[in-house]
Order: sequence, then structure tokens, then C-alpha cells
Amino acid sequence: MNVLPAPDLSDSAILRVVAGIRPCRRTGVRLESEQLTLGARTKTVIHNYGHGGCGVTTSFGCAQLAADLVEASSSPPPPPRGTGVPPVISSPSFLPPIAILGAGVIALSTARELLSRAYQVTCYASAFAEHTTSNIAGALWLPTGIEFGSTHEAVARFQDILQRSKRAFSELDRERWGVERIPVYTPAYAAHEERFFNNATIDPPELLERLPLPGPPRAGRVFYTDFIHTPRFMRALVDDVSARGGALVERTFNSRDDLGRLDEPILVNCLALGARDLFDDHDLYPARGVLVHMKPQPLGYAIDDGYRYMFPREDALILGGCFDAGVDDPDPPEHIAQEILAHHRRFFGVS
Ligand SMILES: Cc1cc2nc3c(=O)[nH]c(=O)nc-3n(C[C@H](O)[C@H](O)[C@H](O)COP(=O)(O)OP(=O)(O)OC[C@H]3O[C@@H](n4cnc5c(N)ncnc54)[C@H](O)[C@@H]3O)c2cc1C
Repeated sequence: MNVLPAPDLSDSAILRVVAGIRPCRRTGVRLESEQLTLGARTKTVIHNYGHGGCGVTTSFGCAQLAADLVEASSSPPPPPRGTGVPPVISSPSFLPPIAILGAGVIALSTARELLSRAYQVTCYASAFAEHTTSNIAGALWLPTGIEFGSTHEAVARFQDILQRSKRAFSELDRERWGVERIPVYTPAYAAHEERFFNNATIDPPELLERLPLPGPPRAGRVFYTDFIHTPRFMRALVDDVSARGGALVERTFNSRDDLGRLDEPILVNCLALGARDLFDDHDLYPARGVLVHMKPQPLGYAIDDGYRYMFPREDALILGGCFDAGVDDPDPPEHIAQEILAHHRRFFGVS
């Protein structure tokens, strides 16, 4: 058996410790449209937020569904049957301009999708791409860390999102977007959640009597999925949105009146945790993840040991992590970073 290269987990390889806050929602992603009075104006608001620990994975699928909602809100009503009035054919000149609230992965993928459908789009946000939670994610293409309900309809909707997203990922220029298929090794003691693998997007894991990893011999599983180098991915999103004529405008919304002052009649709300106060959504909650960034190491594989994972991102080897539900303090505590390091050193048999 060929043993894969070991990571350098020495103190001298530590670059920094960071934390990101996942925008989780108890009742699942909010993807719906409503009419709201915002300040002095009534606007159509299409919500697309609450992607928890799965926003990169679900981004393109949710973007398509949000764009469908925009289309449904902006197309002229059909003429009454039998009036002989010819239907109005939608053309770019009839399409209303769209304001996207936010500039993380959800906002930018929605903007890209709407631009491809000939809408004129402006993204308004207090922080853009590389300064958002989206840039902190690893990210593994894996449907975990997200609530999606247990009814037949909820499961079917989630699977539809995943399948759309998967198709869209498969159409990307992988080099430009920083997407690569890698093996992910899981020790046997880590829980296997069948529901993440029964959606026709990831092949089920294969059992291995011995993982090909350095360190203590252990049994486990391997599955293959896409790894997304998020800094490159976020840059590609910004480049696509800009190249297709989308505008990025810095703006902080402190109240609904601020939203009402936007000129656009349709707003797409991709504010993640920012939607909690502005839209009074008490289903949203933060879940902090702490990550230790080690010097970059092109290992070509990932470890998935629950929230103790290791991802070979090109700008840093990422050691995770945790899921601190209810915590939105972005300052990473030192003792959590030490526990993460100790865990990975034990895993690889170095101390
Ligand atoms: C440690 C960690 C690891 C993760 N790993 C993975 C993974 O492996 N795979 C995966 O698929 N996902 C992963 N995720 C989850 C993923 O990062 C999120 O689901 C995703 O980033 C959410 O994107 P978003 O665009 O909704 O939010 P954000 O990236 O937070 O963007 C929100 C946007 O809204 C703007 N905004 C908010 N409030 C206001 C306001 N009042 N006024 C103006 N602008 C405002 C912000 O400036 C920002 O532009 C991980 C997350 C973390 C923290």
C-alpha cells in the first residue's frame, strides 16, 4: 500500500488562526418571494439565505431557483384567455433592474445567474467576496451543516438544489474556478450520514481496511468529491459578474428604510446573518467555526473527521474546526486552536 504524504503540523508551519460564522437557519434555506413595505415604498423581496455550512455547495442551485422567482415576479401577467391580445414577449428592455443585497457566494452566484438571463444587476454590500464568510469556507462540495427538513417535499427540494448545483459545477472551467476532485478519507469511528450520499451527487464511500495515511494504522472510508479553493472561486465569481456588466456598490443597510431607498423594484436578499435583524428572522442563528491555517501543502487529499477536518487549500492547509452553535464572536479563542492542532497531531501520530 502506498502511504500518502504526511502534513507538516509543526509550530513553525502555523500561519494564523481564523474564525468564520456560518449563517444557519433552523427551518432550512429561505427561498421565497414576498411583497414588503420598506420605508415609504413597496418592493418585491426574494429571499435566498440561511445556507449554514453548505453555502458553497448549494450556491449555484439556489441561484437558479432565486432567479426563477425573480422571473416569476418580473414577467408581465398573461392576457385574459380569449381576449385576442397577443402575449407580451419578455425582452431585456422590459426587465426591471435588480438589487442584490450582499456580495458573498450566494449573492454573487445569484447575480451571475440573473446576468446570464439578461437582467441588469447591482450588488450592494458592506463587504465583498474575499472579505466575507464565503472566503473562509474550505470548501468541500458536501451537503452537510445545513438543515433541510424531513418531509418528502423538503427532501425533494434539497435534492433538486444539489443536483442543479452539481451540474453547474461540472460546467465550470475547473482551473479558472479552483475546483478539483480529491479523495476524502474518513476514519471508521466517524459517523457516516447516509442522507448526504443518497442524492445522486456523490458516490457512496468505499470501505477500506486500512487508510493509506501516515500515522497509526486505522480502518475507514474514502469518497471522492470536489474541493473548492474558495479565494480563486470568489475571484472568478467577481470577474464573471463584472464582465457581464454587473455593478458592485459598497453600502451598509441599518434599517428597512435604507432598503426602501434603493431605486430597484426587486431586491434579492442574500444577506446571510444580516437578514436576522433586517427581516426579523428568528430562525437564523450563527455557528462559529475556528480554523488553523498552516503553510500551504499540496497533499492532494482531505480528511473528514466530523468537524475535525483537514483541507489542502492552495493558500493554506486548513485544519478544522468546530461548530459552535449560537456563537457569533469572530475572535478565535486560543484554546480551541490548540485543541484543533492537538487533534490533528494525534491523528497523524506526531506530538
Ligand atoms: C469555517 C467554515 C467552513 C465552511 N466550510 C464549508 C464547506 O466545506 N462547504 C460549503 O459548501 N460551505 C462551507 N461553509 C459555509 C459557507 O461558507 C456559507 O454557507 C456561505 O459562505 C454563506 O454565504 P452567504 O453569501 O450567504 O454569506 P456571506 O459570505 O456571509 O455574505 C453575506 C453578505 O451580506 C453582506 N451583509 C450582511 N449584512 C449586511 C448589511 N446589514 N448591510 C450590507 N451588507 C450586509 C455581507 O457584507 C456579505 O457581503 C463553511 C463556513 C465556515 C464558517
